[in-house]
Amino acid sequence: MINISKRLNTLQEKIVETSHLAGRDPSDISVLAVTKTHEKFAINEAIEAGQKHFGENYLQEALPKVAAFPEVDWHYIGSIQSNKTRVIAENFNWVHSVDTRKVAKRLNDQRPKNFPPLNVLIQINISGEVGKSGVTTDNAKRLASEIVELPNLSLQGLMTLPKATTEFAKQRIPFRDLRELRDNIGSTLGIQLPHLSMGMTGDFAAAIIEGSTWIRIGSAIFGPRRKTGDIT
Ligand SMILES: *Cc1c(COP(=O)(O)O)cnc(C)c1O
Repeated sequence: MINISKRLNTLQEKIVETSHLAGRDPSDISVLAVTKTHEKFAINEAIEAGQKHFGENYLQEALPKVAAFPEVDWHYIGSIQSNKTRVIAENFNWVHSVDTRKVAKRLNDQRPKNFPPLNVLIQINISGEVGKSGVTTDNAKRLASEIVELPNLSLQGLMTLPKATTEFAKQRIPFRDLRELRDNIGSTLGIQLPHLSMGMTGDFAAAIIEGSTWIRIGSAIFGPRRKTGDIT
């Protein structure tokens, strides 16, 4: 059985080491523990080890986990069908994967009135891959300008999920592009976009070097993803 607390410590050590290399303050980098395919006992173990933020990308799978652990912050990081926006607006504090005006508008309208604004990031298809979620860099600024007009959403920054590569120098390119896009949108619209959600188990060091503030980590904390049919 894997030791989640130990894995979180090892991850934190790597974050500290990498931030120092980049001349960054390690406390500016937060870990989003991605729990897809993992059971509640694993989430519980991470909570006991001090982990505060959890991410899921399949709604069906997420809802029972959100209900079981309402005390932590839940982030939705998966693709969004517009008929699912209400349940997302009611159950999550953060959404990293907004990529259309329609979805943004619905999340805004369906956010319960007694809740704080929903923190959102715009997902960017940074390498312009065909068939991939996210807005293109060309359309990102317009979507950002539309979201800032929505009172029940708080635009926090940009998110990306680039094409996987194991080469460090290549990993940095889309992350650098996302940072530059964020800087550009922020300055032309005159808004603060503090967050960059980028980097996963295989590439978080490159993402930290390029300015990530949310690294989304699954396997390095919980071990390999479980497949359906695995004995629990
Ligand atoms: C699964 C997933 C992650 C975490 O992936 P690991 O490689 O296991 O760290 C991060 N972001 C998104 C959007 C994911 O779907």
